[in-house]
Amino acid sequence: MSKRTPLIAGNWKMNKTATEGVELVKEIAAAVGTESSVNVLLCPPFTALSAVSAAVEGTHLGLGAQNMHDKASGAFTGEISASMLRDLYVTHVILGHSERRSLFGENDAFINRKVLAALSASLKPILCVGELLSEREANQTMEVVRRQIEQGLAGVPAAKAESLVIAYEPVWAIGTGKTATPAMAQEVHAFIRKLLAQQFGAESASRILILYGGSMKPDNADALLAEQDIDGGLIGGASLEAKSFVDLVQIAAKSLRD
Ligand code: PEP
Repeated sequence: MSKRTPLIAGNWKMNKTATEGVELVKEIAAAVGTESSVNVLLCPPFTALSAVSAAVEGTHLGLGAQNMHDKASGAFTGEISASMLRDLYVTHVILGHSERRSLFGENDAFINRKVLAALSASLKPILCVGELLSEREANQTMEVVRRQIEQGLAGVPAAKAESLVIAYEPVWAIGTGKTATPAMAQEVHAFIRKLLAQQFGAESASRILILYGGSMKPDNADALLAEQDIDGGLIGGASLEAKSFVDLVQIAAKSLRD
């Protein structure tokens, strides 16, 4: 684990009603709601943001959203703007998740506009990048990640670089039970940090959090978090149950002490 304060972020995807979400938050807050060595973020669906926002008040748990539109307002049926998220005390927004890219046709240019809009509204983007299995097998991992980082972060002012969070999520590891080995993940994380240093300078790059995502669970988190450039996790499946999510937060806290 690095010297950066780790972040464990739960991406609930299209799971949990507002009522179910509040129940889950209560259990998580009871166990790790005052944990301050690790930043913990919950990213419920839009319909649960308001209720979860109220439920995390007074705890150290933070609130993130899973997506947003790049425009500030207007005729964009079904979309949500940065200011709507800010109004609910959301601090982070996941952008460019592989499910948005593959199922909803989001490309790097659109994701880039969202990144810039989020930063302008003082939201911290969690930019997701990662290769498909076919791309890994064709030795294209670094090329794909380079394109997603360079295009996704085009035009980001250096002064805002430290508000960025990157999540490296090999697509073949998301929801499949297959995890990148710690060495495989570290290799890509180090490459991402090098790209960030080229764009923003080494000092800023050393402060940007790079999370790993892809079937991270209590039984594999320890080894992943021990890697120098892995600063936490973006957690899907294991964030839907209090026990596994709390265990992950505790493993991240322990990794700081080891
Ligand atoms: C994700 O979707 O961001 C994710 C990492 O999912 P899972 O942990 O279920 O692989």
